[in-house]
Amino acid sequence: MLGAIIGDIIGSRFEYGGRNMPNFQLFTPECDITDDTICTVAIADAIINGADYGESLIKWCNKYPFPLGGYGSKLTAWLKSTQQKAYDSWGNGSAMRVSAIGWAFDSELKTAKEATKSAKPTHSHPEGIKGAVCVADLIFLLRTKRIVKADVADIVKERFDYNMPVLSDVKGMHDSCMETVPQAIECFLEAESFESTIRKAVEIGGDTDTTAAIAGSIAEAYYPIPQDIKEKALKYLDNDMKAIVAEFFAKFR
Ligand SMILES: [Mg+2]
Repeated sequence: MLGAIIGDIIGSRFEYGGRNMPNFQLFTPECDITDDTICTVAIADAIINGADYGESLIKWCNKYPFPLGGYGSKLTAWLKSTQQKAYDSWGNGSAMRVSAIGWAFDSELKTAKEATKSAKPTHSHPEGIKGAVCVADLIFLLRTKRIVKADVADIVKERFDYNMPVLSDVKGMHDSCMETVPQAIECFLEAESFESTIRKAVEIGGDTDTTAAIAGSIAEAYYPIPQDIKEKALKYLDNDMKAIVAEFFAKFR
């Protein structure tokens, strides 16, 4: 889940941009956490404390009402409503917040069930759920079964029917699970380190913070995160978020 937070912070200053920026600086004063970090922390907090995923999302989003880039309009309406009815979304929000689930449970079945539960309060469309389950499952398989990169595309195709795109063909803003999840997986597959996974996710442009959050969360299950990147990213977090990250690592890592 720290991989998602790092990807979000690094991608934050490039949203709608990011193309043709080789060797960009990873961390600058323009970087900040966005909704991807807040929602990732919310899911981790729910796991640690046995809370409802939807209630934890409401708690954390209300605690941080104005992140860089804001929240999507549907999520904003959902937060304001009294009934919190799921809005059948297939947006990439279910996939960007799910990573903690890939680390916290000890079977694939339980991982998929919890990923589904984490998506449903808002992203109740089958594609919204599928995006979350795919990312959590891939994290689970990479960290526990040590599946090799050469098998990832086949596994993802067979189980989730996603085809990975050629990164150089990716253009424009993509904010659906169906687009962002395979793009993020391809960034991981074409990269040779945690850092280069994040860089590729930023360099394809578009929804850079979310793509980098998903790509970073997958890369974290395969590569070690360099210590300096970890330390620099944590400086962007307030103490309440740092406490959740520390507690999550102590419990599940
Ligand atoms: Mg964001």
